[in-house]
Amino acid sequence: MHNELKTCRVCGLNYNDFHPWGVDGKTASYEICDCCGVTFGNEDSLSHSVIKFRKDWIKNGAKWFNRDVKPEDWSLEKSLHNIPEKYK
Ligand SMILES: [Zn+2]
Repeated sequence: MHNELKTCRVCGLNYNDFHPWGVDGKTASYEICDCCGVTFGNEDSLSHSVIKFRKDWIKNGAKWFNRDVKPEDWSLEKSLHNIPEKYK
């Protein structure tokens, strides 16, 4: 099931067992997103900075920060659908 608390606000990556902003959605982990490379708690704190970071990331080719964990069937378009409404 889709869970916004397990989703990167910038790139829409769904994590299986990780909450970028904690289980309450308010406690930033300061970990780095495997996909877009945002630091949870820094550039993804405000919706306008989320949008800017995403725009720059896509402009630079939407490259995975941690390529070792990139799924074979990953698609940018599909991933972007997962982004919570507030941060689109
Ligand atoms: Zn991300």
